[in-house]
Amino acid sequence: MRLFISIPCEGEFKEELIDTIEDLRAESYAGSFTDYDNLHLTLAFLGETDKRDLPYIKDAMIRVVSNLDAYEPFEITLEGIGWFKSREGRTYFRRIAENRKLTWLANSLKKELGIHDKPFKAHITLARRCKVYDDFDKEEFESELYDTSMTVNQIVLFESVLTPSGPVYTPLFRLKC
Ligand code: NAP
Repeated sequence: MRLFISIPCEGEFKEELIDTIEDLRAESYAGSFTDYDNLHLTLAFLGETDKRDLPYIKDAMIRVVSNLDAYEPFEITLEGIGWFKSREGRTYFRRIAENRKLTWLANSLKKELGIHDKPFKAHITLARRCKVYDDFDKEEFESELYDTSMTVNQIVLFESVLTPSGPVYTPLFRLKC
């Protein structure tokens, strides 16, 4: 099973991301835009994993969250957009303002789970294979965005099943934090 641990987006924070997706869609002539209900911030990507490892993964999540400073919820805040080139267009994402607790949470999960991939860079993917019109102006686009915040009060272990019409995420384990 294909697994990842993430923070699902909720409330006004999610609404702001939906608005950004719609604004981006209006500026694009091609692209695969994230389903609203799939909006999330990935903390750790486990990839293909044996089902028998689920108890160990849940224990690791519990251990990390129990060490989260003071066990209090904390906030994450949006910060503009970013993109990188992909094979067929660009992948657009919302950046997240630097956040000590968030970075600690992601790095601790990765350490507990033995994940040694690229350094954690908090982002929320909005669109893939995106092709914007020639007159797209990133600064002007960003000036219309609201850098909304959200309180993080849970992390979720998801199974991701890739289908021809996009990924289907199923929550397997929710942990309050
Ligand atoms: P996924 O590949 O199962 O990834 C789930 C999460 O783990 C995403 O946040 C992804 O980050 C992250 N991740 C995946 N591989 C990673 C790696 N090697 N290292 C670190 N993090 C990794 O599911 P998905 O990314 O949502 O979509 C997979 C495929 O479905 C893509 O080809 C996409 O074009 C297609 N698709 C997606 C959507 C959608 O709603 N997301 C819609 C239509 C089609 P990133 O977000 O940074 O990739």
